[in-house]
Amino acid sequence: MEQLLISGGKEYITVDVLPDFCPICHFGVTPNFITGLRCDARENVDVLYVCPKTNCKRMFIASYRMDILKGILSLRSLLPWTPKTVAVVQEVTDISPQFSEIYKQASQAESYGLGEIAGVGFRKSLEYLIKDYCTAQNPGKEEDIKKRPIAQVIEAFVSNENVKQCAKRAIWLGNDETHYVRKWEGKDVKDLKLLIQITVNWIQQEVITKKLLEDMQ
Ligand SMILES: [Zn+2]
Repeated sequence: MEQLLISGGKEYITVDVLPDFCPICHFGVTPNFITGLRCDARENVDVLYVCPKTNCKRMFIASYRMDILKGILSLRSLLPWTPKTVAVVQEVTDISPQFSEIYKQASQAESYGLGEIAGVGFRKSLEYLIKDYCTAQNPGKEEDIKKRPIAQVIEAFVSNENVKQCAKRAIWLGNDETHYVRKWEGKDVKDLKLLIQITVNWIQQEVITKKLLEDMQ
């Protein structure tokens, strides 16, 4: 429990906790208290903090709501919330910058709690990943690859069996995210993300291995 002096120094309140991380830079911090104000008759309080990290120093608002049972103000939310940026490995970003961008956006949607939109985004990112990867593997076939449905592209153009098997399954789950009726009951966006991640790993390994072999003939 912490005591805070709010309303321009007129009133002490007791809150359950201070935020233990910054919602903008996501570092674990002990934020500096600036001020607080009561919001409404229901005894809710908004508290303004500043992040002490030198390369952040941003302000954010913690909303505390009265917990009737405990008789204390308890921390409910932090705003603004900046989604954590996900990193996509460079070898794969080089092959498909679009995949990298859409995947990051889908992850952001997911961290905002927009799971349905995230699923559609991950499915879209996968299409770019596979088509760009196949284009890189099959120079001159770009038009053909662009036009064909993704399942056909995987069958016809992916020769690496690991990539093929993972990508196929990722597409099965991905299609569930865009269709009205789910085929794969019990599988969700987490499974789709995992399959995309494994596909990305296989592609990365293939690229690194190829480079290494070229360097050390
Ligand atoms: Zn911060």
